Parts: sequence; C-alpha cells; structure tokens
Amino acid sequence: MRFARWVALPALTILALGCAGAPALALAGVTGGTQAPSSPKAGGIEFGVPARAVHVPHPVISTLSVPAGATAGAPPKVTLRLDEKGVGTVYLQVTITNLATRRAVVVASMGWSHTGRTLMVRWPASARLTAGSYEVSVSAHDHHGAGVLRQAHSAGQAALTVTAAAKPPVTTPSAPAAAVEAGVPTPAQTAAAGAVFPVAGAHNFGGPEDRFGAPRGEHIHQGQDVLTEEGTPIVVPMAGTISWTSYQAGGAGYYAVEHTSVGFDFMFAHCEAGSLAVSSEQAVAAGQQLCLAGQTGDATAPHLHFEMWVGGWQASTGHPIDPLPFLEAWDRLGAEAH
Ligand SMILES: [Zn+2]
Repeated sequence: MRFARWVALPALTILALGCAGAPALALAGVTGGTQAPSSPKAGGIEFGVPARAVHVPHPVISTLSVPAGATAGAPPKVTLRLDEKGVGTVYLQVTITNLATRRAVVVASMGWSHTGRTLMVRWPASARLTAGSYEVSVSAHDHHGAGVLRQAHSAGQAALTVTAAAKPPVTTPSAPAAAVEAGVPTPAQTAAAGAVFPVAGAHNFGGPEDRFGAPRGEHIHQGQDVLTEEGTPIVVPMAGTISWTSYQAGGAGYYAVEHTSVGFDFMFAHCEAGSLAVSSEQAVAAGQQLCLAGQTGDATAPHLHFEMWVGGWQASTGHPIDPLPFLEAWDRLGAEAH
C-alpha cells in the first residue's frame, strides 16, 4: 500500500499541473494579445501534451470460475488466475462469505501463489457449506503491498448458491477411514491400541465453528473443541511424554503439550487454573489425568481445545490434522466399554 501511494502522488501532481495550465494560457492569450506560448519552457509541463498516467502495477484477476450452484457439503471446485506484469507470485486468499450473516465461513489462505496460471483453490479439508447464499471473493497483494485491481469483467467476486444435498449425508458409526495421514496410525488403529477419549465426562463436539479448519478471524481453528462441564477431568488419550505446560492469557489459557512415539503431538488447552497435574518431560499413560476442563485464556465456555499434530506441535516440520475422526473413534470405544 505504501508503494502504491508513493507512485500515485506524482501522477496526481502531473494531472493538477495540466489542469491549472489551461486557463492560465488562455488568459495570457486574451490580455496580452500575443500568441499562446507553445514552448515547453513556458511551464512545468507542456500544454496540449496529455499527462501520461503513471502506471501503478497491481495484481489483476483474469478469471474466477465459481459454479453458480452447489450442494451442501465441501465447497465446490473454484479456479482462478491472477496476472501482474513482471511479477511471479502474489499473496492470495479466497474467502467464502455467508450473505445472510455477512460472516466469512471458509477462508483458503493460499500464500504466495503463481501469477499467469490457473490455480485451483485448496479449501481447508474440513470446510463445509450448508444450504444458503454465499459470495466467493479473492483478495491478493503483491510484494509491494499493491492490492487487487478490480475490473468490471472480473471483479474477483462471484455468487454461489448452495442447496441442501438430495440425501442427507449418512454418518454411520462405522464410517470408513477418511483421509489417512501417511506414517501415523489410523483412528481405528489407535482405538484398537487402547486410546482413551480425553474428556472423562459428558461432552459434545459443538457446531461447525468448533471444528478443525473453522475460520477464526485471520486464522483457522487448528483443533477440535470438546464442550463439557467445568471441572470435568481431562485425561491422556495415548501414552507419551509431556513436552511442556504453560499459560497463554489471550489464547490457550493453561495448556499442556504431549509428544507420543507414534508420530502424534497433542495439545490440550483452556484447563482450569491450578488443575494441571503433569509437568514437562513427565512420562504419561493413557487415561492418566492431565488437568480439569476450564475456560482459561480465550474461551467463553468450558471446553477442551484439542489439537493433533504430525511432525511436531507448532514445528516447521509439523502440521495440524483434524482430530475429529480420532476423537469419534475413541468416544465410540469408551461408550462400548460402559
Ligand atoms: Zn478451540
């Protein structure tokens, strides 16, 4: 943005000079009776020579392809192409806004993306749209911070109408393993190995906003929230070692991170103050109490915020995965055992 303004100023100055020059020259012609000067020396800018607009480079959306209609569920395939002369990559984000609530419901942050080629939007794996009217919008900026130049033929926004699926999605208790993460056990394998549901009491998984991948302002939700009563014991799901425990006032509150030997790292957030029963480098067994459910940090109701990472929690080599298939598998196991 800073760059764009810096370039725009000389352009405005030139235009202003051009406008002011015209009456002054006309006036000179009337009063003096002499020929209007035509020499460039007469002013800062030669009259009659059109002030050339200074070109401010901007990313331009060449195409945005959104189906007019889709059925409820995962967002439809959306492709787009951005161009900017002499620029190889632009920072790109695509947002789906619910027109009824004006809230962003899905955000695909695509990072620095190539210009000059058709890109398919990578929606968060857990993103789901319910029936309704939406708008798909593209925002991008280049390395100088210049934003998208919106054009009449492709303003980078498109309407999307989502209708209810003909058949409601079947959520059988024995749903086949969905996306299997390479190198780590499947939900069924962890359940068979004795994994324990981390909330030892009545609980539920809340709504879409509690899911992994739900938009959280500029970020996405990196875990699954498990709603429960204040003080419900939070227990270790799988054996491992506590990496650390800490407190984060504006976020996780009192939390613990656990590393397992099978490739997962877990994070448990919003514990009740003073309830952490484990400490850094402590070996823990499945079912062992970690803390009590609370709402410390950025939380408005007691719940466990549970994250699962592969490759290390918050590590440059790691990434969060959707914990819900695991939680559901462990939850079923617990229900069967009782
Ligand atoms: Zn959460």
